[in-house]
Amino acid sequence: MSRSAHPAGPRHADVLTEGHYAAPPADLNALDEKVWARTVSRGDDGAVTVGGIEVTRLAEEFGTPAYFLDESDFRARCRAWADAFGADADVFYAGKAFLSRAVVRWLKEEGLNLDVCSGGELTTALDAGMPAERIAFHGNNKTVAEIERAVRAGVGRIVLDSFQEIVRVSHIAQQLGRRQRVQIRVTVGVEAHTHEFIATAHEDQKFGIALAGGQAAEAVRRALTLDGLELVGIHSHIGSQIFDMAGFEVSARRVVQLLTEVRDEHGVELPEIDLGGGLGIAYTSDDDPREPHEIAKALGDIVSRECEAAGLATPRISVEPGRAIVGPTAFTLYEVGTVKHLEGLRTYVSVDGGMSDNIRTALYDAEYSVALVSRRSDAEPMLVRVVGKHCESGDIVVKDAFLPSDLAPGDLIAVPATGAYCRSMASNYNHALRPPVVAVRDGEARVIVRRETEEDLLRLDVG
Ligand SMILES: *Cc1c(COP(=O)(O)O)cnc(C)c1O
Repeated sequence: MSRSAHPAGPRHADVLTEGHYAAPPADLNALDEKVWARTVSRGDDGAVTVGGIEVTRLAEEFGTPAYFLDESDFRARCRAWADAFGADADVFYAGKAFLSRAVVRWLKEEGLNLDVCSGGELTTALDAGMPAERIAFHGNNKTVAEIERAVRAGVGRIVLDSFQEIVRVSHIAQQLGRRQRVQIRVTVGVEAHTHEFIATAHEDQKFGIALAGGQAAEAVRRALTLDGLELVGIHSHIGSQIFDMAGFEVSARRVVQLLTEVRDEHGVELPEIDLGGGLGIAYTSDDDPREPHEIAKALGDIVSRECEAAGLATPRISVEPGRAIVGPTAFTLYEVGTVKHLEGLRTYVSVDGGMSDNIRTALYDAEYSVALVSRRSDAEPMLVRVVGKHCESGDIVVKDAFLPSDLAPGDLIAVPATGAYCRSMASNYNHALRPPVVAVRDGEARVIVRRETEEDLLRLDVG
């Protein structure tokens, strides 16, 4: 798939013949429950509410742009994943999607485990009281200091990503007098059907150790012989925003094949298999994500079938959804600043945020939806491009969407499904102040990550 930070602007007429924006939705005031957090609805007076609070009130109290996260939806999704996989499996929330201390507490309360991939995420997890044994530490180049902290803290597992790291973790664990539980991350040669920049299991990539050519088998040999390591399983993560279960099936099959080889060569049955995350969510009404119970059943069936065929005891399965848990639970609220009609070309709606709070559109050509949320409108639909306020023409939030043609400065619009990889990838480009994350639940709103201030910017700039 081609990638362009500066898409050549299709003309109005071209856009109208393509994709889901070929025709405006029947009712612009309707909110598709697939893309909005569960407690979001439009009230009688026309303003949208979340957790029982009108967005107009939220904007007054917390300002814009801001992320509003539906806490009860987040907790419900955690429970849905935990229930779907049951007591014989483990669900690890991938912290890189969005992590804060409040999130860690919710995960802990809802019985989930947590993936971290940096010292910063590890600190957040430990500080908020996640038991270390429920943390898995990932990454293709963990520093020695990070590994030391993780081993010292007693993290449940470290996912080894290279031959050097196998030796490194072994050394560090021995120095600290520990035996660290580890998994080996393998690349299974599956190309998940997704954007190439978020596909990670084909072989030409920086993550993992290839099954192909016997590399992964060699990694297992070393991990089994080095002191300080307790090899408990094999890990595979094939990509992101995946809808098609076929990639996971191939991945599971190949990982089980490796477990079989390990049993045959070493007489050891590794007890765990981690199939990673990457489950897709609905960003627009065109997306049809799988429910956790369907995913759990599909993965459970394939692993037990393959293991039975190989005469292996079924290992404990783990999965690592990030986006699928937090993505749908939040939306970004913006205020419209300008509406610019370029005759015969396009209408640009500028908002008070942009690529600093949502880089995914520019980075991955991601699609989003958008709605006018501060009032109802029965005006005719107009095709727009929602753009930010940054000094960069690729600063696009929503490439093509319909908003009412009476849209005006001061209106509030919201982009749903921004819970994952938006605040966590936010930047200070143009010295933008990163927006707050506000958790809303049962009529109460509280800031869980505050808005950055200009003092914060100046504090880092030591002159
Ligand atoms: C990014 C990542 C995940 C989470 O991916 P999502 O698309 O958010 O579900 C899980 N596991 C690993 C190893 C990852 O790198």
